[in-house]
Amino acid sequence: STDSRADSLDHTNNSRWPRQNSLSMKEWDIPYDELKLFEVIGTGRFGTVYRGSWHGAVAVKLLHVHSLSDDCVPLDTFKHEVATFRKTRHENLVLFMGACMKPPRLAIVTSLCKGMTLYTHIHLRKDKFTANKSVLVAQQISQGMGYLHARGIIHKDLKSKNIFLENGKVVITDFGLFSVTKLCFGNNARGDSLGIPPGWLCYLAPEVTRALTPHASLHLPFSKATDVYAFGTVWYELLCGEFPFKGQPPEAIIWQVGKGVKQSLANMQASRDIKDILMQCWSYRSCDRPDFPTLLTTLQKLPKKRLARSPSHPVHLSRSADS
Ligand code: ATP
Repeated sequence: STDSRADSLDHTNNSRWPRQNSLSMKEWDIPYDELKLFEVIGTGRFGTVYRGSWHGAVAVKLLHVHSLSDDCVPLDTFKHEVATFRKTRHENLVLFMGACMKPPRLAIVTSLCKGMTLYTHIHLRKDKFTANKSVLVAQQISQGMGYLHARGIIHKDLKSKNIFLENGKVVITDFGLFSVTKLCFGNNARGDSLGIPPGWLCYLAPEVTRALTPHASLHLPFSKATDVYAFGTVWYELLCGEFPFKGQPPEAIIWQVGKGVKQSLANMQASRDIKDILMQCWSYRSCDRPDFPTLLTTLQKLPKKRLARSPSHPVHLSRSADS
């Protein structure tokens, strides 16, 4: 059980419920009819996110349920993963409010993130993050991820698209739901023959890349260390404003990562300390990667660069990365 103490409480208080309801967590069930759905915010690999209302503004992720067939992740897995969600209470994690669990209406309701994702800032708006700003963002990601890991939750899909910036505050979304949401409900609708969605590959650690086969997604060896690898890629995006292995075809990336070839940092203008963090997170062997508490300490120890304000050293802030 994900939370045996709470489960047993559920039982004593609600003894008339049959056993299988311990996973459905009645208190987190939201009747679909209570939700108001407004416009579509975006469509991902597995579902559509709506701006909605349920006791205030919320985001509703409606899963594309094509079929709940046997080769698909069963409903229990969805319930189980939703159950892990309820254990999360942290400043830097999106607030889980509840879920609709009656097929074909499967939905996850969270607080509505204001601001934009790091992906939008970095890759669409081309906002520049100063080293100091990048460090502040990375510290908050490490804090949120450290909390998730302490709770035994692996994100499995940490990427700049799943990190919002709200007035300088980091909010991480989409954690822990990877197996149900990404693999069952139409993962291959987009992406290439391996079922690799665009922009996903550069977050995958070597041990994950090596395990990629057309239908092996369910059994990919995600771990805390693979989350740290993905964090390394976000750190690179923050510092360089682009993805590692930019412009290279998937086969080339898979081959290089699988053999331990890393994106070159030769052209990157950053201090040794900053590059070291990157290299540690991208370590070929998972046991050589730091954990998030260690990363946080390292990030906190980085010397703060004082911004030169004299006219001879103008501060280059092409656009503020603040939302
Ligand atoms: P993928 O499916 O590959 O992860 P994605 O991250 O774009 O891609 P979704 O997670 O389904 O897909 O998100 C769809 C859109 O909804 C994205 O633009 C995302 O930024 C937005 N979104 C997701 N959760 C929230 C939220 N809690 N508040 C506001 N917007 C959100």
